[in-house]
Amino acid sequence: MTEERSAEISDRLRQVREKIAGIADRYRRETPPALIAVSKNFPAADILAAAVAGQRRFGESYVQEARGKIQQLAEYNLEWHFIGPLQSNKTRAVASHFDWVHSIDRGAIARRLSNQRPPSLPNLQICLQVNISGEPSKSGVDVSELDELVAEVADLPRLQLRGLMAIPARTPDVGRRRAAFHALHDTFLRLQKRGLPLDTLSMGMSDDLEAAVAEGSTLVRVGTAIFGSRHHKIPGRG
Ligand SMILES: *Cc1c(COP(=O)(O)O)cnc(C)c1O
Repeated sequence: MTEERSAEISDRLRQVREKIAGIADRYRRETPPALIAVSKNFPAADILAAAVAGQRRFGESYVQEARGKIQQLAEYNLEWHFIGPLQSNKTRAVASHFDWVHSIDRGAIARRLSNQRPPSLPNLQICLQVNISGEPSKSGVDVSELDELVAEVADLPRLQLRGLMAIPARTPDVGRRRAAFHALHDTFLRLQKRGLPLDTLSMGMSDDLEAAVAEGSTLVRVGTAIFGSRHHKIPGRG
């Protein structure tokens, strides 16, 4: 870990925070969204540099890779968000090491997480991932099946359902991105109106922050803009 790298991360983090605050201001959002620094593919030293610069929430997508980093950084009291696709053979590790999971799109995975959440930990905080652009190959629950999944997850004892997450299809068309985020926000409001105590709309990444914040995101997940591009891979992911 060089001093230059620490300074770079701290500078980029500040720029991202300023950008989010500026967008929130422009769209008259009372509370700017919270920031998750997505640290997948980057080493624990980079996360520590961000933590020293005041960042507390971190996002990871690969269970194996994340476990090592979470253990190395245990003394810093960071908040860990699992944001990647989750298979059933990895649920125990996620239930044991993470505070939040954003990528629930099946009842079976949610049930495993609830069963496997260690009794010594607070409930696992959950967002349901919605396939908002309606692409057949993308992960996320179909909007038509969301109500059923909401009902199931809301009943699980060790999970706390907090809201919705989406990764809209990448498109250079800003209007289409906003439409996708708008649709997720509408769905979120519909669930809130039914009395569900949801407070989290997890949407927005490095490339689509503005559209997401304009459409009501409460939690953005930013990797590249903070840590740089993920051209390298670190061992032990999977
Ligand atoms: C990698 C990832 C991000 C961060 O993406 P950037 O474009 O690097 O900001 C956000 N959300 C999810 C689900 C991711 O997998």
